[in-house]
Amino acid sequence: MNKEEVLNLYHSVKNELKAKYPCLNTWKGPFFSNAMRLSLGQARRSSDGRKEIRLSNKLISLNKDIPTFKKQLEDTIRHEFAHALDWELNKGWSHNDSWKACCKLVGANPERYYDADYVTVAPNHAKYAIRNRNSGRVFNYYNRVPTFDETISAVKWFLDMKASVCDTMEIVDIRDCRSHILPA
Ligand SMILES: [Zn+2]
Repeated sequence: MNKEEVLNLYHSVKNELKAKYPCLNTWKGPFFSNAMRLSLGQARRSSDGRKEIRLSNKLISLNKDIPTFKKQLEDTIRHEFAHALDWELNKGWSHNDSWKACCKLVGANPERYYDADYVTVAPNHAKYAIRNRNSGRVFNYYNRVPTFDETISAVKWFLDMKASVCDTMEIVDIRDCRSHILPA
């Protein structure tokens, strides 16, 4: 996909959803972020009241030639609009039941909201990572198998962030991931 195709996809989803749910008109986008490296999309509310849907430049450029990328990008865009709709309808701001209900309304997949094999950006020399299986959020990268204590620290860190339960933590061997995963 090139940039124009990314924009076309975004706007076709946006126009479809805004026609159904005019409250989404207050959400602006897409904004392309150079700082986002661990998630492909983000719904963002800033303290001054701006509401934005952002997409990661880095992850788009790393993954744009994967055959399934268009499908994944569309699912990500719908995922972010589900957050926007959840905020407008319920003042919800999480991945809980009201967000899942919004996923149904906007045609997003409420189960698999992160396909980690496709969107991992690892630092050079990293061989392993501890990450949250659901969100894809990486606690840390390692050049060896993480120790037990490091794994416990990761679990505590995720619990502090009020993330979902610790059984969603996993150690991944980056070398086993798909070949299109490139070092940052
Ligand atoms: Zn989300």
